[in-house]
Amino acid sequence: MLNFKSVNIIAGLTCLGLLALCLFYDLSLIYLFIILLLWLLITGLGSAFIGWNYHLSSLNANYKTNKNQIAITFDDGPNPEFTPKVLKLLKTYNAKATFFCIGKHIEAYPEIFKSILEAQHVVGNHTYSHSNRFGFFGTEEVVKELQRTNTVIEKQCGLKMNLYRPAFGVTNPNIRRALGITGLQSVGWSKRSLDTTKLGKKAILKCITTNLKAGDVILLHDSSEKTVLVLEQLLLFLQEQNLKPVTIDTLFDIKAYA
Ligand SMILES: [Zn+2]
Repeated sequence: MLNFKSVNIIAGLTCLGLLALCLFYDLSLIYLFIILLLWLLITGLGSAFIGWNYHLSSLNANYKTNKNQIAITFDDGPNPEFTPKVLKLLKTYNAKATFFCIGKHIEAYPEIFKSILEAQHVVGNHTYSHSNRFGFFGTEEVVKELQRTNTVIEKQCGLKMNLYRPAFGVTNPNIRRALGITGLQSVGWSKRSLDTTKLGKKAILKCITTNLKAGDVILLHDSSEKTVLVLEQLLLFLQEQNLKPVTIDTLFDIKAYA
């Protein structure tokens, strides 16, 4: 399988072989640079695409399910304007979802956070600051971020977190080590909606619904009006397709809380 460890071993052995050939047969060093560039490209893509499971194993989809279930996930809340609208829609369509919340947003809007739990949805950790530099944080800094949000949530509702959604979907060796220390399970997705881009509602809905099947995990953000409008269309589509929106722990038959 293509992962960080196997790519490092293959790249390392190839470099050693090429180095020997360069020494004994006067081979150009350019081949070494090509291997290095390939390593950088594969590792960059592996860090950016959570579905590759390149640095660590994430729960991206459960196609083994024999139930007509999918999971809708919302990142970056709680949001005072849009989370209540999302909750209202979910209630109308009798759908359950998973909310990966940012620690500082929970502190800012504790009542909105509590309303997610009161509606029997599931919550998970989505870092404390959601810093743009999160992918460059050292292991200690990542651990601090995750533990801080775990503490904020435990203070609010007494729940101990099991689930983590990587900020921006970025993974790397520091995040892998931090998850090992904190015991959190990474949750990815199989359907990226691109709802935070400039794409229109129709295009976003198409991104989600094209080839959508039981076991898929959908990524949305409860942070814009556009997502709320797409959500209503999505819930109608799921109803027509007889696909039931459930929480992540239900879809994977795991425990959301320790
Ligand atoms: Zn996020």
